[in-house]
Amino acid sequence: MSEPLAPGHLDHRRLWGDFDFCYPVLSRRSRGISLGVNLNPDKACNFDCVYCEVDRRRSPKRRDIDLDQVVQEMGVLLDLCQDGRIFEIPPFDRAPADQRRLNDLAFSGDGEPTTAPEFPEAVERLAHLKWSRGFHGVKLILITDASRLQAREVVQALDTLQANNGEIWAKLDAGTEAYYQEINRTRIPFDRILENLETTARLRPLTIQSLFLEWKGQPPSEEEITAYCGRLDQICRMGGRIEAIQVYTVARPTPEREARPLRAADLDRVAAQVKDALPALPLEVYYGPEAWDA
Ligand code: SF4
Repeated sequence: MSEPLAPGHLDHRRLWGDFDFCYPVLSRRSRGISLGVNLNPDKACNFDCVYCEVDRRRSPKRRDIDLDQVVQEMGVLLDLCQDGRIFEIPPFDRAPADQRRLNDLAFSGDGEPTTAPEFPEAVERLAHLKWSRGFHGVKLILITDASRLQAREVVQALDTLQANNGEIWAKLDAGTEAYYQEINRTRIPFDRILENLETTARLRPLTIQSLFLEWKGQPPSEEEITAYCGRLDQICRMGGRIEAIQVYTVARPTPEREARPLRAADLDRVAAQVKDALPALPLEVYYGPEAWDA
């Protein structure tokens, strides 16, 4: 589940030196450093989002997952954060003062993390690493397309996540099956995603991440956003807990040239519609780049 880059922001890098799995980013949505873990080095994903920034035309550096190496790489990054040396290294040396903090370890890479067979063990091992190094306040975040939230091994891993200051940031980019298929391009039925979100939110709180964009020259229609709000309202009415809605847009050029950031006025319209329909839910809005130099 790739997190698009934040505009006007420090460079998010998938690769940190020679590391294969772990990378630091300065994340607006984390308001600090997020240490990412890529459990999909093969770049495989069960979605094919039109806005995905992962370039799958280039061969991956490797396809296997080595959890010992994951833990070793994360340990090095935690060292750099612990003593502050990371803020001496470009581009983090330009981080604003209020973001010079480690917020989370995040499962977010070049595909959907929960599809990796190693995901449950990776959660266990990173939870243990975080705890053993004394980072009790640091979050463990799963950024997911929500397709496998009810798989048995994933549910068990979510228990571990939740017991370790965990959060689930789940994608929902559409309100209708047609728009979901248009934007997320997957064989997974929309109903299953909605059911996964609702069932999971009744057990543990979710943060909903929604990327809206200009696709083939069109922003999402008012009807689409109405349907989207209806989906979230339904989750709440069924007893689901939504901690926050994060609405954002494309932040840099992607392999699909027709996937463009929403203009600020369009994002304002979407945000106003969401706020109006769901006034009780905290809404965070992240704007796209002012200039687009694709
Ligand atoms: S869920 Fe979408 S954005 Fe995330 S890695 Fe898969 S295709 Fe890319």
